[in-house]
Amino acid sequence: MTTRELQDKIIQLKKEKDICLLVHAYQSQDILEVADFTGDSYGLSVKAKNAPQKNIIMCGVRFMAETVKVLSPEKRVFIANENAYCPMAEQMDRIQVEALREQYPDYTIVAYINTTSDLKTAVDVCVTSSSAVKIIKNIKNDKILFIPDCNLGSWVEKQIPEKKFMFFHGGCPTHLRITTNDVEVAKEKHPNVKILVHPECKKEVTALADYAGSTTGIMNYVENSDEKEFVIGTENSIVQHLQFDHPDKKFYPLSKECVCPNMRATTLMDVYNTMMGQGGAEIEIDDATREGAQRCIDKMIELGG
Ligand code: SF4
Repeated sequence: MTTRELQDKIIQLKKEKDICLLVHAYQSQDILEVADFTGDSYGLSVKAKNAPQKNIIMCGVRFMAETVKVLSPEKRVFIANENAYCPMAEQMDRIQVEALREQYPDYTIVAYINTTSDLKTAVDVCVTSSSAVKIIKNIKNDKILFIPDCNLGSWVEKQIPEKKFMFFHGGCPTHLRITTNDVEVAKEKHPNVKILVHPECKKEVTALADYAGSTTGIMNYVENSDEKEFVIGTENSIVQHLQFDHPDKKFYPLSKECVCPNMRATTLMDVYNTMMGQGGAEIEIDDATREGAQRCIDKMIELGG
């Protein structure tokens, strides 16, 4: 079977089985082409909630499928590859957060959305990379304990100098592979080309870049720019997607190492197998965890608008 034939079968199965296919922006092009919706984890969850289909398949990593289930408990939610998980989301658990709460009772605990549902039950609010600054500005408390990504936290801190931040060890192992040396090499190889990075990169890397922002922020930057070449410092699938979207422009990865094995784990065949009941895994979350995680996400919506 060719890729095109498999894609046609998937498109047909979506209709027959009442399935909405959510595909994170870091997935491969052949999967993106058959998606109902593409985007970041939170944006996809909102789309799933409003979609008429009763079944959702998420192509991404586990915490993303959990977020979909939290917002759409009445739907059946599946992850296309059950082994795809975000290492950063596993770096801290609820017990550690509860201990931090006891130790620092006067801090508001803010978690990146890349965390488990169980952890979300113990924090005050979660944020995405595109909403973090706005949400934290809107928090009344000026003491913020940000988990688990110290680099994203530092990037937010720079933009809100009036608040006091505390961080706990953690970060994206994929974005951490990009080094300041990569930036220096890119500047030498592509002088005068803008370097756009994700704030999950090391803070020293972000400091050397021309722009730092979420995946959506990077894509919008390219869309709105008259420049013809860009160096991209985020998961390298974005380099490929940008090239598809802007064939008149040129894109260079900041580092060949910035590849997330978990985001790349899902294949088109996994999507097909999940639809056929031969693969993937259904997401189950108990009511107490779901309600606790929902409270955290609701707070994000309230403060982020
Ligand atoms: S790129 Fe980083 S944050 Fe995203 S899923 Fe992979 S490890 Fe997690």
